[in-house]
This record gives sequence, structure tokens and C-alpha cells, in this order.
Amino acid sequence: MENYTTQMDAARKGIITPQMKIVAEKEHMAVEALRDLVAKGQVAICANKKHTCLNPEGVGSMLRTKINVNLGVSRDCKDYNIEMEKVMSAVNMGAEAIMDLSSHGNTQPFRQKLTSECPAMIGTVPIYDSVIHYQRDLAELTAKDFIDVVRLHAEDGVDFVTLHCGITRKTIDQIKKHKRKMNIVSRGGSLVFAWMSMTGQENPFYEYFDEILDICEEYDVTISLGDACRPGCLADATDVCQIEELVRLGELTKRAWAHNVQVMVEGPGHVPLNQIAANMEVQKTLCMGAPFYVLGPLVTDIAPGYDHITSAIGGAVAAMNGAAFLCYVTPAEHLALPNVDDVKQGIIASKIAAHAADIAKGIPGARDIDDKMADARRVLDWDAQYACALDPATAKAIRDSRMPEDDHSDTCSMCGKFCAVRSMNKALADEYIDIL
Ligand code: SF4
Repeated sequence: MENYTTQMDAARKGIITPQMKIVAEKEHMAVEALRDLVAKGQVAICANKKHTCLNPEGVGSMLRTKINVNLGVSRDCKDYNIEMEKVMSAVNMGAEAIMDLSSHGNTQPFRQKLTSECPAMIGTVPIYDSVIHYQRDLAELTAKDFIDVVRLHAEDGVDFVTLHCGITRKTIDQIKKHKRKMNIVSRGGSLVFAWMSMTGQENPFYEYFDEILDICEEYDVTISLGDACRPGCLADATDVCQIEELVRLGELTKRAWAHNVQVMVEGPGHVPLNQIAANMEVQKTLCMGAPFYVLGPLVTDIAPGYDHITSAIGGAVAAMNGAAFLCYVTPAEHLALPNVDDVKQGIIASKIAAHAADIAKGIPGARDIDDKMADARRVLDWDAQYACALDPATAKAIRDSRMPEDDHSDTCSMCGKFCAVRSMNKALADEYIDIL
């Protein structure tokens, strides 16, 4: 029988859990050092006790940067099996977390399928599910209904839940007073705002936070404190609504930690490149180093169709400056539900951002694969290069489709006979260099 409730409780009691051992090994870190970070809340190991097939990961700025992929059944994509295939392919491509944002039909079987078959951390946003679960309009739901859905997700084995606890009735006045360009763009945040506006009541996730903590402590569900006021355009970045909510998220972090409940804090959004580092610093200070989970940040508003790139630029800078967890963004962002190829593009872009940041942060072993790639490139060993590539199939397909026309097939068609690598290898080996 375990003599601890959550990973944080165990860490504080000096207990090394099986999950801590696995995470420490993956991170090339001494398990005692990891335990200390979990005890302080600076690393979250999101591991619901009921998610027994989980391959645990740690989330914290001193660890490898993790990425999340949003999937789930919806009115336009109802097939559980197709969605499950997308989930497993995302995990194979390196996603450490899957957020199930299902918004159609009976969502429970798919959620349970995820926590019984998927080894990645599973996250949900219970407020999305509330309307679907009860089949009642938002205004007809009670505060208790929302809390019961949090319990349902915890019982189903979900590892982390996004709860928009930081938006309160005061935010309604602020949004009206400060006249943001994009108001609230968080889906969950807008639902909480709408519910408060229609019912005149306080945010249930804020008002009944202690009840939520009891649920999360029982199952070891990590709370991902949602940023309802994340900026939805550059003009709204780092404004009073965003920062005021972040202050409240810091207070809620303290309350959760007092209950041994693990916390991540969600962050922006759309942010100009020059404001990202400052945003990370402010979060670290206000939320006492709790892992920061960023949704982007997108560094420009004008690239629909390419927002996997705008967010990868922002994500790399954010992670280099302290963000621990990147939510992927696909080329379909702001436009449509992502298809299979969009999902792939989003994952690759996020992996590049996360990896680039890990190298910059000096995460042990992060650059090893890049050094291997350089060795393979120097000797023009194409199979070895594919083996190091984030997306080997695409790399191989591009080369194979455009091989050099002459017999210099050890090079590629980019420079053909003028291949610098080949010329240097031959020159350094005192060999004759045949160009014509
Ligand atoms: S041909 Fe040019 S791009 Fe291709 S391997 Fe040689 S140097 Fe690199």
C-alpha cells in the first residue's frame, strides 16, 4: 500500500516513486535531485494513479522541453479509431502529451481508451466536456455540474486537467474597461466568462477550488491552470488582464501546493518576440517556478496557414527562457480543424522548437544527435543522416525525388559536382577532385 497521495506528497516525504526513477533516468539526472524539484513544485510528474500504461515524463524548465498535441473526436471527425490512430502516430513522432479536446457524442469511451492504451500524459479541459456530457446549454449547468465533470475525468485516469480558475467576476469588468482588441480567445476561458455573465455567479473553478484540490489529490491529477486571458493578438500581449490573471494563478499555485497537488501554469498566446523572455521571467517569479506550459507564443498575427512556424519561433525562445512545455500549433490554426498532415507539421515544428531550446539551455545529452548528424553529413552517409532526422521519411523522399543527374550520387543535387563536403574530403585526403 502506497504511503503517499501524489508525486509531490511522496517527494516531500523523501519517497522515491517508480515514476521518479523512470523520469530521472530519461533526463540523465540524479533521482534525489529530481525528487527535490518535484517536492518544490518546479517539476510536475503528471501521473494519475489510474493511468497504469503511462510512460511517465517530468515537466520542468530544467528538464527536456515536452510537447503536447491536441486531438479528440468532434462533430467533423467522429470516428474513435481514426482519432486513436492519430494519437498513436503523434506519440510515435515524439509527443509526450495528448490533450483530448473531444467535443462530440459520448466522450467517455474515447477518454477511457486513451488512459488504458496510450503511454503519453493525457490532459483534458473539463469545461469543454461539461455541455456535451450533460447535453444541456451552458447557462443551465450548475457549479456542482462542472466539479462533477472534473471528478469524472480524474476517475477516468486523466493525468492533467486545464481549469480556468484565474478568471473571476473582476475580469468581466476589466475586459469591458480595458477594451482588448481580441477580448478572450481561450475557448475554456470564454465559456467560463459566458457562464459567469449569464448566471451572475462567481467562477466555479475559483470558488470551489478546495473541492477540486481534494479530487486532484485523491487521483494525483495535475492542475494546468488555464490562462483565460492569454493575448489573442500582439496588441493585447502583456496587458493588465493577462498579468492580473497570472498574479491570481500564482496565488492558486500556492494553495494547490499546500494540498500536495501538482501544478502547471498556462501562458500566452500571441506575444511579440521581444516580450517573450520578460513574460517567462514574470511567470517564474509570480508562480514560484511552477512549470510553464505555453500555447505558442505566436510572434506575429499575419501568417494563417503557417502558424506552426510563428509558434515554433516563439516556442523556442520561450523554452530557452524557462517554458517547460509547448502546446503544438498546426498550419490550420485560426482556420480549420487540423487534418493528419497538419498534425504532423505541427508536431515537427514543436519538436524543432523544443529541441533547439534544449540545446541552448545545455540540457545534458540534448546535442548528441546533432553531433551524430554532423558526422553523417561529413562522410555523406545518407542512411545515417536519415536515422538522425526528426522526419526521416520526408528527408529521404526529398533526396530520392531529386537525385543528381551525373554519377556523383554520393552528393545531392543541391550543388552536385560542386559539393563542398565531397571536395573537402578529397582535398584533405590528397585525392584528385574531378569536377568536369
Ligand atoms: S551537394 Fe551541397 S548540399 Fe548536397 S551534400 Fe554536398 S555540400 Fe551539402
